[in-house]
Amino acid sequence: MSSKAPESTCPESRGPSILGLTSEAFVNHSTDLGIPTIDSLAAYRAFYREGRREGGWFALEDMPMGTREVEGETIKFTLRLGAGREVPHETESVMIPMQGRGGRRTRTLCVSSQIGCAMGCDFCETAQMGLIRNLSAAQIVAQWFAARHVVGEEINNIVFMGMGEPMDNIEEVIAAIRVLTDHNGPSIPSSKITISTVGRIDGIRRLSELVAEDGFHRLNLAVSVNAPDDEVRNELMPINRAMNLEALQDALLEFPLRGGSALLIEYVLIPGVNDSLDQCDRLCRWLEPLRCSLNVIPYNPRRESPWSAPTETSVDAFVGRATANGQFTKRRGTKGRDVMAACGQLGNPEIRRQRRPGRKTAS
Ligand code: SF4
Repeated sequence: MSSKAPESTCPESRGPSILGLTSEAFVNHSTDLGIPTIDSLAAYRAFYREGRREGGWFALEDMPMGTREVEGETIKFTLRLGAGREVPHETESVMIPMQGRGGRRTRTLCVSSQIGCAMGCDFCETAQMGLIRNLSAAQIVAQWFAARHVVGEEINNIVFMGMGEPMDNIEEVIAAIRVLTDHNGPSIPSSKITISTVGRIDGIRRLSELVAEDGFHRLNLAVSVNAPDDEVRNELMPINRAMNLEALQDALLEFPLRGGSALLIEYVLIPGVNDSLDQCDRLCRWLEPLRCSLNVIPYNPRRESPWSAPTETSVDAFVGRATANGQFTKRRGTKGRDVMAACGQLGNPEIRRQRRPGRKTAS
């Protein structure tokens, strides 16, 4: 089932947007304009907690909601940036229902950090677009605002697993995280936020600095590994030619993990490419020094994909073997496959069709 909702809007600012500001920065800026702290703080809380946009202290420009598609309880929506372009630039976000602790129903919001992506992973729909643009912190936070106050759902977790490589736009991603965790704003605990990367080592080190700060110790890091050796990984993920598995392992060993937290290692299982039991054994040996949880993701064929989805038998065999090897392993479901919202499948086909030759597509 699919429905359009063009009437809904989400604000984006021309000047310093409230969407990109922590409450402290917002209050400071308001003070410069002569607005008392008590009023600006109340406005900030009302904006984030109740979705109230009156006040007019900051010019707001509409980021209209483009499309909204629903498959079961999974909702995918887009926000349009810069109206008037022949092909609009659109963020893409997915709201995914999850089962929380004690069977509680929770909702995870998957946000984009870029439009398109430069990383060129072979299995990924978004890679077909190339990189169109980075999103600002405000445009990232706007996706949460739209989910919470336009679609109107409580959001429990946020994962940076939509379009884009977060480490390619790390400063805006960090600025967005500061807003999302703000106690006067969305107030999402840092333990409920996950940043997923293909393994950009400089970005992992930059994130380590943030995790060392008070209030961010429990931020989660997910890494797409997808191969047991450099040979296979070089083919699937161009990043590996610059930052190979050995260098990645070193960076992950240095990543500060507090308490019982663990790295999340993602492994997209592709038939005939990386799904043999021997490859599983070699992957587990590479993972051995890391405190991590392995997340096996059955490949979702992208449009015009050379590969099919793996069989249930092969997924079970791979997960079983990793578990037998002593590696804590989970299997991720494929919610959202039919709306092309599952892992590595975000990306506007209209934009891909119109992509100019020569655009940067891989690092
Ligand atoms: S998997 Fe992630 S990093 Fe790789 S091309 Fe797709 S969006 Fe970019």
